[in-house]
Amino acid sequence: MATRRAVLGLLGAAVAARRAPWAAPPPSVPPAAAAPARVTRIRTLQTFRLADALLVRLEDEDGTVGWGEAAPDSIPVAEAFIRHELARFVIGEDPFDVERIWDRMFYGNHDLGPGGALPNAIAGIDLALWDLMGKRLALPACDLLGGRYRDRIRAYGSFGIGTNRRLTPADAAAKARKFVQAGFTVVKLRMQIRELQQDPQPDYVLDYARAVRAAIGPEVKLMVDINNGWTPARAIELGKRLQGELDVWFLEEPVSDQTHRLTAEVVRALDVPIIAGEKEYTRWQLRELITDAEPDYLNPDTIKAGGLTEMKKIAAIAQAYDKPIICHNTRPALGTAASLHFVASIRNCGPVIEYPDVDEFRAQLALFPEPLVFREGFLHVPMRPGLGLTPDEAAVRRAVVPS
Ligand SMILES: [Mg+2]
Repeated sequence: MATRRAVLGLLGAAVAARRAPWAAPPPSVPPAAAAPARVTRIRTLQTFRLADALLVRLEDEDGTVGWGEAAPDSIPVAEAFIRHELARFVIGEDPFDVERIWDRMFYGNHDLGPGGALPNAIAGIDLALWDLMGKRLALPACDLLGGRYRDRIRAYGSFGIGTNRRLTPADAAAKARKFVQAGFTVVKLRMQIRELQQDPQPDYVLDYARAVRAAIGPEVKLMVDINNGWTPARAIELGKRLQGELDVWFLEEPVSDQTHRLTAEVVRALDVPIIAGEKEYTRWQLRELITDAEPDYLNPDTIKAGGLTEMKKIAAIAQAYDKPIICHNTRPALGTAASLHFVASIRNCGPVIEYPDVDEFRAQLALFPEPLVFREGFLHVPMRPGLGLTPDEAAVRRAVVPS
């Protein structure tokens, strides 16, 4: 660990050398010539719109670059939000003032809605700030987030059947089998029913879950995500059968997220652990979900919920209620890297993290010369500086799609 200790020594000197602009230097501050870092300012912010992602690039006046990713729910909206509403709170700022930058981005726009587009867009900048800070200090982001509880986490292979049931039960079984062959020991079947098709008649969830369970065998753990598609009565009836007949490990978002007491009703009635929280975006929304519904596990998403700065606060709120976090994560690369640094740094991390089918993201993954490591069912925290996953900038520029 000599190298890490030496780097931490430099970190101490760097932190000492970074003074708040309003503070007089204390007498113990070493001479400037001995300091390896100094106050720097963000000079440029750029967005890169890819076919399936929105990347954010920040550069400081010394030429250090940080990369982030915003949630892709509407790439044009997130891009416009970042460029027209958020950039002015970042340009000219010291990246180490990440808390103040976050507050200014949030409170400067929260009349536009505290959930959804605002925290989605904030996350892109926030992650780029953490990447840049880590790169300036030559430390992985998790070391700046409080250090490491773990350096890897079991990943579950996550796939959906499509809003209009694009996959048949046989297709879903084949998809699940593919994850297991790739080394996953947990898979999640997303039913994507949602409120628009609530309580389908006849209900097809058991058909899919049976096909998947038969394909993966009894040893692999099975999670089922209803994507808000049931009413409590249906959820309680079929939730018992999913657990009793098919040994379902976790049941996710069985009912609408719009009314927390519906989730509370299901949590009280079922023994199978309930996951909820992917549509809560801030510490306040997660707090309300916990106190209203008491789900067994929370699944906020780093690139939806305002980035690492907000996720650390969410983790603290969750700790105060003894709730573990299972990160929602549908992204293959930068978003995953950020979530891995988050889970590395929190005590109340659940047993798994979500990971999608990489075959659907081959073009995006090819942008990263040093890929994430997935081995024997586990994703490893990329311990290079910052988020530990840096795209090839020339390749990113070639991959940009027209606005
Ligand atoms: Mg879900």
